[in-house]
Amino acid sequence: MRDHDLIVLGGGTGNIVASAAAEEGLDVALIERDRLGGTCLNRGCNPSKKLIHRADIVETVQRANSFGIDASLNGVAFAEIVDEAITEVTEEAKEKAKRARENDNITFYQTDGRFIDDHTVEVDSGTNSEILTAEKIVLAGGSRPLIPDSISGTDDVEFITSAEALRVHERFDRLVIVGGGYIAVEMSHFFGAMGTDVAIVSHSEVLAEREDRDIAERLTDVYDDKHELHLGYEATAFEADDDTKTVTAESDDGDEITIQGDELLVATGRRPNSDLWDVKAAGLETNNKGFVQTNEYLETSTEGVWAIGDISGNYLFKHSGDKEAKYVIENAITGNRQPVTYPGMAHAVFGSPQIAGLGKTESEVRDDGRDYVIGTLSYDDTALGMALEADAGFAKAIVGSDGDVIGFHIIGPHASLLIHEVSTAVAAGADAKTIAETIHIHPALSEVVQGAFQDIQDVAPSGV
Ligand SMILES: Cc1cc2nc3c(=O)[nH]c(=O)nc-3n(C[C@H](O)[C@H](O)[C@H](O)COP(=O)(O)OP(=O)(O)OC[C@H]3O[C@@H](n4cnc5c(N)ncnc54)[C@H](O)[C@@H]3O)c2cc1C
Repeated sequence: MRDHDLIVLGGGTGNIVASAAAEEGLDVALIERDRLGGTCLNRGCNPSKKLIHRADIVETVQRANSFGIDASLNGVAFAEIVDEAITEVTEEAKEKAKRARENDNITFYQTDGRFIDDHTVEVDSGTNSEILTAEKIVLAGGSRPLIPDSISGTDDVEFITSAEALRVHERFDRLVIVGGGYIAVEMSHFFGAMGTDVAIVSHSEVLAEREDRDIAERLTDVYDDKHELHLGYEATAFEADDDTKTVTAESDDGDEITIQGDELLVATGRRPNSDLWDVKAAGLETNNKGFVQTNEYLETSTEGVWAIGDISGNYLFKHSGDKEAKYVIENAITGNRQPVTYPGMAHAVFGSPQIAGLGKTESEVRDDGRDYVIGTLSYDDTALGMALEADAGFAKAIVGSDGDVIGFHIIGPHASLLIHEVSTAVAAGADAKTIAETIHIHPALSEVVQGAFQDIQDVAPSGV
């Protein structure tokens, strides 16, 4: 048995906590069975955006002719593209592992771990197991793809999830994606641009159904032109023969369809890794989906155990996990106890077009019974939006009767960037009028954001 000052479970966002604690002079155990950097670096944000950037380039070339530029796409080096993305992230993960091993205050257990009781963790090292104890434990145990029990054949038919999809070396001719959330939206953009024929099957009526409905509908319209969509259909069964995989799906009114492809990608959500860490053995309370419950100090129901990132289910994004890591360092390590806040919390989906959002959707505001007004502006109502021919793009601001920004949603080029103006404003307590009246560079694309707020404030004389 070995006693540490702190045990960090999970080497994704947990890695940040481990290194901060080591810098404070604590004797830290870091447990990660896979590569350091976790989902984001190895199987999520980073490789997916490297690949999506290539997809964006393909689309730019394909659209060049409509701007009077003679260009043609002569092919994509699919295997090399994937290989380069994976090599880069793997090198970064190796560097992290090297730094962890060289840190005198960190013992890096690159193996499986699980709770034995509230302050005891067992790690496997080959055939031996080792018992670790610590007064403080930070659980940054992450999440993994959720495979619905309701689909028959998932045990017999080979399929891929996002983890494998980012590492395939052969381009599929036809890919069937089950699920319509952000991972499906991003993956279909990548594979579609690489030349794969993509079909999406989802129980939701629109893609990205958690977004504001107007945004989700616009995205769905654009995707409908590029991909084969089967929305409103729940996948019920997978089957396979030599070279074809088949998804059977059923609509609410009993209509049954079958969709075939040479590969199936299941992107039906994420589930927390609470079971893998055996959080019950530590007495940690979980909700009905298995996410570990925390209070505003990120404390779990067991004293001396904190939880951050995907496993605690507050938001399932890297930037919110990073914010929680900062708070847990204060709360668990330096002792400056602070409640966590998420100022200007926003998110983006890197499909084509991009979408981004913060705060509430219009239907959530309506359900709250709040008074609100909506301001919108199309990209092509601005000079640069028109130059980009981004006619599908628009911004939508939802503003309360006292001028506060309740929600902001945007679809179109650089949406992931443009939203930061609004997140900063919200974090700083600025209201809709301030955004509308702040001078924006003409003709920068941020005029789309300003214009949505001006639509409400009516502050700009626009001429005849
Ligand atoms: C395809 C994809 C794209 C994404 N894109 C974005 C994006 O663009 N922007 C964004 O903000 N977020 C994105 N995300 C989400 C983001 O990756 C996660 O929110 C984030 O990585 C979660 O970090 P974490 O530290 O909570 O968990 P993780 O990074 O998953 O860390 C948990 C670690 O625990 C390890 N582990 C689990 N069980 C055990 C065990 N029993 N023993 C030992 N080790 C164990 C796992 O191997 C894992 O490394 C994406 C996710 C996916 C899947």
